[in-house]
Amino acid sequence: MKLLQKLSEAHGVPGAEREVREIMEEELLKYCDEVEVDNMGNLIARKGDGEKKVMLSAHMDEIGLIVKHIDKEGFIRFASLGGIFDQTLLNQRVIIHSKKGRVTGVIGSKPPHLMDEEERKKPVKAKDMFIDIGAADNKDAEKIGVSVGDYITLERSFKKLGKKLVTGKAFDDRIGCYALLEVMRRVDTDWLVYAVGTTQEEVGLKGARTAAYKITPDYAIVLEVTTTGDYPGVREEESANKIGKGPALTLVDAGGRGLITHPKVRDLLITTAEDNKIPYQLEVGEGGTTDASVIHLTKEGIPSGVISVPTRYIHSPVEVASVKDIENMIKLATLSLKVGIK
Ligand SMILES: [Zn+2]
Repeated sequence: MKLLQKLSEAHGVPGAEREVREIMEEELLKYCDEVEVDNMGNLIARKGDGEKKVMLSAHMDEIGLIVKHIDKEGFIRFASLGGIFDQTLLNQRVIIHSKKGRVTGVIGSKPPHLMDEEERKKPVKAKDMFIDIGAADNKDAEKIGVSVGDYITLERSFKKLGKKLVTGKAFDDRIGCYALLEVMRRVDTDWLVYAVGTTQEEVGLKGARTAAYKITPDYAIVLEVTTTGDYPGVREEESANKIGKGPALTLVDAGGRGLITHPKVRDLLITTAEDNKIPYQLEVGEGGTTDASVIHLTKEGIPSGVISVPTRYIHSPVEVASVKDIENMIKLATLSLKVGIK
């Protein structure tokens, strides 16, 4: 889990994935034949010398913020990069990645003592929030090193939660990145395997689009995280996934507007799971989508599927996942790559 911790605690908003990429590159160099970085910042590793190609991918970016404006008093106004739920931001500690290094900030707000009853009832919107870096005014903020365009991430360390679970930030999709590295370490197949750490997934599935075009694989598998419906406030029919019950295999996501999993990939994943007694859950999603949405529409169409680790509180700094589910995703992907599609 050391490597997962390192990946979770690394910082990389869309377009600034370098820190994550360097961790992955160091690992992939140990057990791949070739590793390169393309113009989009994607990390592309190759292993094997088969004629048929498979692309395995996970996105390196995490949702985050960017400095939009520094006001006269030295408070930082920000914009979101990716689907952030405003309420997860309030009173968080953040890191601003400035030209002078990391700057600690806090997302401030009016204390309840000073609010009237109406104010207390209303959630605070991100556009009304600000970051306090302890600057006296805007000149001081500049001296500290903060400028418009600096990336901002949440500060949150990785921890065990009970005996079987782990919690941290950026599990979406550092769990996929971790699994990708593990699969490449273990994989043994006649196929030529491309492992891709993609960029800018959270802002429009961008890196995966150009990587799939370059590689033109015969099929693709995306390693991701997905929602669960096993805690208060979520009904089972909204999300049937349960933590600890195995990785989820996407049948359809975004109500079919994202991905309708190719039958060859669906059958490969289900058969491999059944044959090897790996637990799995089938998922029909109506909300979000993944890199597979753009990969499968590349060139003449690429059969694609998604394996996901069910993760609670997704897109928050306290995401929760099961160590067993992660291991089972690695096993399932490794064994599926050995067989390949017919
Ligand atoms: Zn994701």
